[in-house]
This record gives sequence, structure tokens and C-alpha cells, in this order.
Amino acid sequence: MSVDDPLVRDVVVVGAGPVGLFATYYAGFRGLRVTSVDAQSEAGGQVTALYPGKLIHDVAGFPAVTGRDLVTGLLAQAKEYGPRMLFDTDVLAVRAAGERFEVDLSGDRTISTRTVVLATGVGGIHPRPLPVGHEWYGRGLVYVVTDTAAHTDHDVVVVGGGDSALDWALQLRPVAHSVTLVHRRRSFRAHEALVDRAAREGVEILTEAEVTAVEGDHRVRQVILRLGDGTTRELPADSVVGALGLLSAPTPFPSWGLEVHQRKAMVDSRMQTSVPGIFAVGDASTYLGKVSLIVSGFGEAATAVNNAAVHLDPALALMPGHSTDDDLAPPSSRTGSIPVVRASGEQR
Ligand SMILES: Cc1cc2nc3c(=O)[nH]c(=O)nc-3n(C[C@H](O)[C@H](O)[C@H](O)COP(=O)(O)OP(=O)(O)OC[C@H]3O[C@@H](n4cnc5c(N)ncnc54)[C@H](O)[C@@H]3O)c2cc1C
Repeated sequence: MSVDDPLVRDVVVVGAGPVGLFATYYAGFRGLRVTSVDAQSEAGGQVTALYPGKLIHDVAGFPAVTGRDLVTGLLAQAKEYGPRMLFDTDVLAVRAAGERFEVDLSGDRTISTRTVVLATGVGGIHPRPLPVGHEWYGRGLVYVVTDTAAHTDHDVVVVGGGDSALDWALQLRPVAHSVTLVHRRRSFRAHEALVDRAAREGVEILTEAEVTAVEGDHRVRQVILRLGDGTTRELPADSVVGALGLLSAPTPFPSWGLEVHQRKAMVDSRMQTSVPGIFAVGDASTYLGKVSLIVSGFGEAATAVNNAAVHLDPALALMPGHSTDDDLAPPSSRTGSIPVVRASGEQR
């Protein structure tokens, strides 16, 4: 394979959640050839899947930022140095092969890399399918609201009782013709304030109601409900939003040769796992005093990638220099190539 073969990399970042996205940016910043891989069809991990519309208050520098805006910024930043980004792609295994690693992907592909950064969070996450009506997925049934405008003037039925269900109901209310929230229990997992706000803003809330059928022609047209008193109700529906939470499949770290504690990869202060050259960051990793927050994950990503750079070339400096140095700025804002900082402080 030639040197610039897309299947030969310096670093593969597994997972494009917030922490993996920042690790991808950072690898580019360090001048490494990086591929990012995620099982989902879009970036953002738990943030995109569970709370895109929610305000996050504890990301440094942003008094409040929606999950969606944070991911949009992280994705733009991750792309600064032109990484390869593969979505809808599962990493099935990471195998040691001499001084390299073989990363086996779904679709029968393998990437050969010298370092791996595992940012797999809580594992491969997939929306929990509706118990009935899943066959309408892609024909009016969605599990994530990514494009509010796509539901303009629709009669929308949101199924679920958690924060995401309420967030999406509120997000769609201003553009939709009607929004009905269907929840099978009397009480909600979502914050009470969100439920009150939804009721105030015109979302019809049906509790102790269960979807028994989803019907349509080439796309969804109506939803049949069984109500708490045993009666049936037909609701017109152009869109159905399934918000029943996520199913996660833990990453099989032990079979990849990694030491784990409570299913997370154990790491040292370099964020390196028990296998030299494999690093783990964000919710996928653990160590004494670990705090699973987005901001701690960002710091871990920078630590992991700087140490991966030194693992690749021990002559490189651990400290990358400052991104404010003109020579280190992303290609979009400078001319010239990325200098590689050596331990002596010399740049090339
Ligand atoms: C409702 C809710 C609210 C939250 N609010 C906050 C908050 O206010 N502040 C805060 O700091 N944190 C919050 N968190 C926690 C925060 O979302 C997580 O700490 C953060 O998402 C971790 O990021 P990550 O990149 O490590 O992992 P994740 O976001 O879990 O992303 C991991 C990615 O890896 C992918 N992946 C996994 N395995 C594979 C594989 N084998 N192959 C390919 N891809 C794979 C997944 O598909 C996923 O996209 C909240 C969490 C929840 C559930």
C-alpha cells in the first residue's frame, strides 16, 4: 500500500461523539493522518442522539449552547485539517499486528494504523425502535429530529416521555400543524418544567396511551392509539417521532486485549490503555477520579493525541505549541504547511 493510502493512517479515532470529534481536530492540528469512524449516520454521539435541542451550561466559554450548535461547531473544527470521516461504519475489532494495528470495519474493510484513539462513549448507540410501526422508518417515522423544517405543516405524533420527546415536541411546535405527545405512563421521566411548557405552548399531551398501529400508503398517514380507558383513538400523522431512548452495545474492549473496569477502558495519565499505542478518552475511558463530562473529555482528547504523536515519533515534543501561532493555524486561515514541533523546540 502506498504512503497516502486512505487505509493506512497514523491514527484512527473510533467514535465521532463530542470527544472523538475534538480528538479528530487535534490529530489534524498535530499534523497526523487521521480517520474518524462512527457507527451512526451523523456526528455528535449521545448529544445528537439524545439531547440536540437542550441547552448545555457547562461547556467552557459558552454560558449556554444547544447540543446541536455544539456539535455543528465541533464538526466544523474537526474538518479543519481534512480528516477522512466514515459514518454508518462499525469498528468490529482492533487487532495488534506488529508495531501497527488493524482496525476491522463493517463492509469488510480494514484500516492499518500506528495508533488508535477510542472515543466510543457508552458503545454503539441505536435508537430503541417503536414496538409497532418500525417498518415506516424513513417513510414518515424518524428517531432523531435533525431537520425541523422537514416537518413544516405536518401533523406530528411524538412517542415517549423523556427529555428528548419533550424537546422535540417543543422544537416542532412552531412549524408543525399540530404536535401530539403520546406517553404510555401517567408520570414523565422528563423535567416537569418541560412538560408544563409543552402544554402551555400547544402540544397536546396524551398519557396512559399506547400506539397500537401506524398506518399509511407510501408514507405514514395516521397512528392508532389505545387509551387508558380502553377506547381507541385515530390521530392524523404525517410525521411520527419515536423517542423511546437508546439501546447501547458495550464496546468489547476485553476481546481487543484491553484492561477494563466496569466496562470502560483503564487508562494512565497519558490516556493510554493497557496496550501501548491504543488510547481511550471520554465516556469510554476510566481512571481514578474520572468525571464523565464533555469538558473533561476535551482535555483527555488533547492529552491522548499529543501522547499518540510522541508514540509515533519519540523525537516529537509532547507539547504541540499554541494554536494561536500563525504556523499552527488551520489551513483555512493560513498559508504554508503544518510545522512538526520536535522535542528540542525545533520546527520542521
Ligand atoms: C440526557 C443527557 C444529558 C447530558 N447532559 C450533559 C451536560 O449538560 N454536560 C456534560 O458535560 N455532559 C452531559 N451529558 C454526558 C455527555 O453527553 C457525555 O459525557 C458525552 O456525550 C461523551 O462523549 P463521547 O464522545 O465520549 O461519547 P458519545 O457521545 O457516547 O459518542 C460515542 C460515539 O462512538 C460511536 N461508537 C461507539 N462504538 C463504536 C464502534 N464500535 N464503531 C463505530 N462507532 C462507535 C457511537 O456511535 C457514538 O457516536 C449528558 C448525557 C445525557 C444522556
